[in-house]
Amino acid sequence: MFKRVLIANRGEIALRIIRACRELGVKTVCVYSSADAGGPWLEQADQTICIGPPASKDSYLRIDRIIAAAEVSHADAIHPGYGFLSENSHFAEVCRDSKFEFIGPSPEAMQALGDKVNCKRLAKAAGTPIFPGTDGAIEDVEEAVAIANTIGYPVIVKAAGGGGGRGMRIARDDAEVRTGVEQARQEALAAFANGTVYLEKYLEMARHFEVQVLGDKHGHAVHLFERDCSSQRRHQKLIEEAPAPNVDAGRRDQVCASAADLVRSAAYAGAATVEFLMDRTQRFYLLEVNTRVQVEHPITEAITGIDIVQTGIRVAAGEQLPFTQSDISVRGHAMEFRINAEDPARNFMPQAGMVETYAPPGGLGVRVDSHVRAGYRIPPNYDSMIGKLIIHAPTREQCIERSLGALGEYRIGPIKTTIPLHQRLLREPLFVEAKHDIKYVERLLEAS
Ligand code: ADP
Repeated sequence: MFKRVLIANRGEIALRIIRACRELGVKTVCVYSSADAGGPWLEQADQTICIGPPASKDSYLRIDRIIAAAEVSHADAIHPGYGFLSENSHFAEVCRDSKFEFIGPSPEAMQALGDKVNCKRLAKAAGTPIFPGTDGAIEDVEEAVAIANTIGYPVIVKAAGGGGGRGMRIARDDAEVRTGVEQARQEALAAFANGTVYLEKYLEMARHFEVQVLGDKHGHAVHLFERDCSSQRRHQKLIEEAPAPNVDAGRRDQVCASAADLVRSAAYAGAATVEFLMDRTQRFYLLEVNTRVQVEHPITEAITGIDIVQTGIRVAAGEQLPFTQSDISVRGHAMEFRINAEDPARNFMPQAGMVETYAPPGGLGVRVDSHVRAGYRIPPNYDSMIGKLIIHAPTREQCIERSLGALGEYRIGPIKTTIPLHQRLLREPLFVEAKHDIKYVERLLEAS
């Protein structure tokens, strides 16, 4: 096991990693920007090092400074968390070259699964269900038009290096394919310096279904079942739940197994999430693979009893996965609510500033992962998530009831948060009956 892990992240995920390391008897070094000086999570680290000014590009994204901090603190491994450098294969490579174990996949596995065109090719070979579309990158626009006509409109043009919903264009006829390819290419070039685009079928009504996978360095990979993250606004997840409600058990098992097969075929070690869209007939289509621990991992921890962050650290240190597929089963139902410092009544305006009141809920099946407390000043420089409320109960109905209770108890002020929106969504008949899709939150917000 490692002696000292450097955490190249901030906020709740830094705290989550500190807690996992502590249980493993591993010391922690937290790097931070000057905007995060005095951040409550830093008190829990064994050592802290300031790596620069507030802007992420001058601190949390500065590979040279993070490596220097790892050297001076004698860390033997680096945990990237999520966001920032977590899916940057160059960073993973620099860590390896500098003799620090990157807690995550090898740069090769990250590239193989992180590039969407490449990932789709691997998925096809592994038997993971993919969208009908172009086989690889679009070379010739007229060929793309012909393929669009074979699979039928609407279609979507997407960037191989895409992220955050950028570099995507929906096309409903031949002319839109022609302009969409050009626009997506330009946008992708500007955003990711990679103008490779591909085309696939576009689903009007879909649910977001994702499979949690864990792999080790000894050729093993297992899945920890799925999460449904269909409650989204502008591609940002708001509520996640596990298991996915109203899904045929046979189909569910098949797609989960195929996700583990895909990750295994890339010789992947660590936590990964294989994201799918599911149509009305419960067919699955691969969206992308996220090569890191995800924000919503705690709901999977709740229903499986497996500590995903701790297991990720263990496999990075060379241990074998301590369980096989048949050891993993689902118990009860879990939901996660992202508590964002945003005002839902004012178009989700970010709310930086002082948290004067902070009283989290408690009780059986209630977990709060948050780095915030009363007197904490939210800096304006980073994302607006200030905590996650994770609820576990025997059934989905009980989980909704328990969630309403806990959200009602949660006191944060005077800054506004997404708590009232969650309370509203939990009473929304479409959600309660699990007949919702990835656009229902936006439709609701537009209608009111
Ligand atoms: P990114 O990496 O930018 O997040 P994704 O491939 O995950 O890109 O797609 C982002 C979102 O765009 C999805 O969550 C979904 O809402 C929508 N989307 C992407 N591809 C399709 C598709 N083929 N059909 C319908 N919606 C899609």
